[in-house]
Amino acid sequence: MTPATYAEVNLAAVKHNLARVREYAPNSKIMAVIKANAYGHGLLQIAKALEGVDGIAVARVDEAVRIRKAKVECQIVVLEGFVCKQELDDLIQYNLGCVVHSPGQIDILESYSEQGVASVWLKLDSGMSRLGFVPDKFALAYQRLVKCSHVKQPISLMTHFSSADELESEVTRQQIKQFNDFVKTLPGEKSIANSAGIMAWEDSITDWVRPGLMLYGVSPFSNRSAKELALIPVMSLYSRLISVKTIKAGEKVGYAGTWVNKAETHIGVVAIGYGDGYPRTAKTGTPVLVNGKRVPLVGRVSMDMITVDLGYQSDSKPGDRVTLWGAGLPVEEVAEYADTIPYTLLCGVTQRVEIKSIGR
Ligand SMILES: *Cc1c(COP(=O)(O)O)cnc(C)c1O
Repeated sequence: MTPATYAEVNLAAVKHNLARVREYAPNSKIMAVIKANAYGHGLLQIAKALEGVDGIAVARVDEAVRIRKAKVECQIVVLEGFVCKQELDDLIQYNLGCVVHSPGQIDILESYSEQGVASVWLKLDSGMSRLGFVPDKFALAYQRLVKCSHVKQPISLMTHFSSADELESEVTRQQIKQFNDFVKTLPGEKSIANSAGIMAWEDSITDWVRPGLMLYGVSPFSNRSAKELALIPVMSLYSRLISVKTIKAGEKVGYAGTWVNKAETHIGVVAIGYGDGYPRTAKTGTPVLVNGKRVPLVGRVSMDMITVDLGYQSDSKPGDRVTLWGAGLPVEEVAEYADTIPYTLLCGVTQRVEIKSIGR
């Protein structure tokens, strides 16, 4: 049975996008970022589709353990690191790398009484004020890690961009400079670039690059489409029409009657709503493809349904295919109409939406 609403994930597109990363960064190792269920695409199947990649990064220890238990053998790095000894035990037991970003983590490493060494990425906070040691505290953290017998040497070094999608950002230039000033004499491997860094900030391409969004075929830039960047969208979200009705001029559509029809038309009801992860913030006018043709969403998004204006001439009927984003309709565009970013739409697809994979 084909479910009414499903997300098709094209694994061949993942491989294509990974090859694009290699073109941008031919001399770097690639750490594919697959946190948050691989940005909603299915953690384990994406980990497997990325065969041959040098490393994988996730946010949390439990995500990393799941991947390792599925017999993925490359380096796996936990971007949020650990907060307690138990998590450090898991990291060591499953041979997982981790980010060290705060003094409490170094305390845990120094007082560790079991066998084993951890692979660590020491993180510099180069201006985002989220995770990482600020410049004043970085050297001391580094010295402590160098002396710690439970830390594999040499220590790897990283930072993260706050604004790399802004192509003329002075902030990004400063972040690169600050990181390089700090680490240039240190022996460990270095990593700065996320997707935007890889595609727009050549100076940020170092020993390791950390692509996320671009692997899923989506552009991080507001003024450069995935197509221009030769990326192929991996996820297409599909549903179908479940009702088509004629309404007269002046009729209201949907909760609170926010949309009033100007002339007689056909309203299509599509079996998808915010209960599936379609954003409730999608405004009237958000494009939707019905049988491959663009029509506007009208009225409010409900939990299980949306309404679209099929037009007076339409001969669309219940059962016809609807594309919410993906093939033929970039998720970036839908995100703009919904006042959000493509990341949230991809991650936000809910459990009830079946993922069907193709192209393996
Ligand atoms: C999520 C994340 C990335 C990947 O970012 P994209 O913009 O999706 O490429 C890279 N590095 C870190 C530390 C991250 O948290």
